[in-house]
Amino acid sequence: MKSLKENFQKAHIVIIGSGIIGKFNALELSELGFQITIIDPNQLQNSSNAALGLLMGNMYQKRRGRSWDLRKQSIELWPQWISFLQKFNYELNIEKPLIQLTTNEEKFKKLEKFIYENDDQNLRILEENSIFINNINKAFQTNNIKGIISFKDGRINAVSLLKTLDKYLKHKNVNFLQGEIIKIRKSNNQWISTTRNHENIKSDIVILCNSLKAVDLIDSLSHNVKLKPVLGQAMEIFINDAQVDLLSLPKQFSINGKNIIPKSKNKLIIGSTDEYSTMPEESIFEKLTNFLDKRPSWLIKGIISKKWYGIRSRPDGEASPIMKNLENGLIICTGFYKNGILLAPACSKWVANEIKNYLY
Ligand SMILES: Cc1cc2nc3c(=O)[nH]c(=O)nc-3n(C[C@H](O)[C@H](O)[C@H](O)COP(=O)(O)OP(=O)(O)OC[C@H]3O[C@@H](n4cnc5c(N)ncnc54)[C@H](O)[C@@H]3O)c2cc1C
Repeated sequence: MKSLKENFQKAHIVIIGSGIIGKFNALELSELGFQITIIDPNQLQNSSNAALGLLMGNMYQKRRGRSWDLRKQSIELWPQWISFLQKFNYELNIEKPLIQLTTNEEKFKKLEKFIYENDDQNLRILEENSIFINNINKAFQTNNIKGIISFKDGRINAVSLLKTLDKYLKHKNVNFLQGEIIKIRKSNNQWISTTRNHENIKSDIVILCNSLKAVDLIDSLSHNVKLKPVLGQAMEIFINDAQVDLLSLPKQFSINGKNIIPKSKNKLIIGSTDEYSTMPEESIFEKLTNFLDKRPSWLIKGIISKKWYGIRSRPDGEASPIMKNLENGLIICTGFYKNGILLAPACSKWVANEIKNYLY
């Protein structure tokens, strides 16, 4: 019998969970020639489908450590993956730039310091009389908004990205099973993943990308993995005011920590919240629109035309995300309570390298 190393590309990898992290791992590993099976009971109801898709990499202010390294690597990988995935959806794109605004003088000073200290052509302070600031002040009836612009950051439509990945994975004959894994165990050097319907799936490697439920499948105490739920809500608001044209605003920006995406002349998306619970808080409109001392009247009168939420997992007692080689052939890549869309390329690359090291 040939060893695993000889059978490198024939190795069968089971990915548990088909959010952005599971699907991106499948993309990276299928390109390396592995046989992949992804298993998920419900690939549409996860936090990835709720994401706003903002890629805040370059404007991240801590320019060292693991978190920055992952961001930096993802910023570099994203354009390559976009041109690759455009073969499956030519409209897939990262809308740039991204604008970060504040009305807090102290926070603005920090942003200014960050820009001066980083000689980065892709980051600038927005001039007080720039068209962006003028239009934002006019629309939000303010005069004290300040901020920065990042030409390298932007937004990808998360749902469109997931659908494009589905097309790619189908083209690569990646096996997709609808089912919930309730147990994993090792037997004769192979991993056996058991579904709720008592089906056993054998593989050489298992990657856990199933967020909060990952801890149910491992001995979380001996592996020291703890995750807690963080619910995030977002909403689309319809504005009934002929004086306001939301399309005069930048395509994506944040004010005092709330992300805003104008969709049309009279619709915008605002998100998201961080709720340490599994039940969405009720006062969502108040929570998401209260980002200025005085809200403009059109915003107060706005009507929620859609709202949604997703539950992400946050590592408890360690930094996000959790990327660990738990034991031979068992990898965990989860705990993306924020920035899972942004970080997917770098984290999948890490997983692929771990697998290559394991098999060689
Ligand atoms: C409102 C909101 C806005 C956000 N905005 C952004 C943003 O702008 N930019 C950004 O980068 N990130 C954003 N995020 C965060 C981002 O959505 C997450 O970081 C990312 O989606 C996490 O992906 P995931 O694949 O780890 O988890 P998920 O997408 O939650 O996927 C986990 C999957 O595992 C499956 N699963 C669970 N248990 C099992 C089992 N036993 N067997 C098989 N499958 C199982 C689930 O069905 C699910 O499909 C946002 C999140 C929310 C909620």
